[in-house]
Amino acid sequence: MHPLVKQTVISAGLEAIAQTRAGEFLPGAAGRGIVFTLHHVRPASTRAFEPNRLLSVTPDFLDSAIRETLDQGYIPVALEDLQNAVSNARENEKFVAFTLDDGCRDNARHAAPVFRKHAVPFTLFITKGLVERTHTMWWETAEALTRSRDDFRFDFGQGIETVDCRSNAQKHRAFIRLARFIETVDEDFAVSRLNAVANSSGVDPIQIVEDEILDAESLRGLGSDPLAGFGVHTISHCNLARVNDQRLQREIVEPIAALKDWTGKEPKSIAYPYGWKRACGEREASAAHHAGLSAGVTTRPGVIHGSCDDNWMLLPRVSLNGLYQKKRYVRALLSGIPFRFM
Ligand SMILES: [Zn+2]
Repeated sequence: MHPLVKQTVISAGLEAIAQTRAGEFLPGAAGRGIVFTLHHVRPASTRAFEPNRLLSVTPDFLDSAIRETLDQGYIPVALEDLQNAVSNARENEKFVAFTLDDGCRDNARHAAPVFRKHAVPFTLFITKGLVERTHTMWWETAEALTRSRDDFRFDFGQGIETVDCRSNAQKHRAFIRLARFIETVDEDFAVSRLNAVANSSGVDPIQIVEDEILDAESLRGLGSDPLAGFGVHTISHCNLARVNDQRLQREIVEPIAALKDWTGKEPKSIAYPYGWKRACGEREASAAHHAGLSAGVTTRPGVIHGSCDDNWMLLPRVSLNGLYQKKRYVRALLSGIPFRFM
């Protein structure tokens, strides 16, 4: 997700929890399982305007997050094995699964070597239309557009206006307006309008996908890694809760066959794009289940308790967020305490 508009991240209290070692006083909060979410894994950027910064962590931070998780006694498993592991866990056993959304090229280059070093399985959630270069990532397009321009012309619904984006503050404001526009009008329509404006402003949205997202050939290569698993992240990266039943089914079913073809592995899980409450609920979970998938992950923060309250088609996840790249924050997240207050 692209949670600039809807941040699901736990900012307040993380530092406090890390400092006071509160986890020792609320041991039950940690649960039996945790699923981490990542997007980009790559060296830190030095750019001043980076509205998607929270979607990027460094390989070093991933390495220290894995170490901390293993030091805390978590057993790493593939997401598709998590339910079985948690259900059959012996006392005091707890499990972790790592997931990466959107299928970024840097996942193969920078993240996979770190996972291999620790022999930790990982699941990539792949967007079929990005792999095939038929769809674009509006949040990256909006970033490139607002970064490269001093202004641009856009119709947010009240006629064409000039949007200033000379200063970083103006760039942020313009980015947020574009994000809100995508969220409030028909998503396909909004994305195509953004792409048209980007194209006429010298920003090529398809080239961004080409630069950032794994193609079929690289997926084939990654498929031979026994630690790598693959899950569905739809065709178009649309908000599934906003599309009709027929489209919903297509967005889930078509990527299953494509992923099997590209990677040689049958996907068993889905990450609902955006993952927040208004992007996935019982209808989307049921469609995924009927398509033969056995796990669904959201971006709602939380841990898995190993009780009948767990909904395996709408699991919570914990974001390893680019804005909080400290080992002590990972320890605070593992304590489960931050989610008691949400
Ligand atoms: Zn995504």
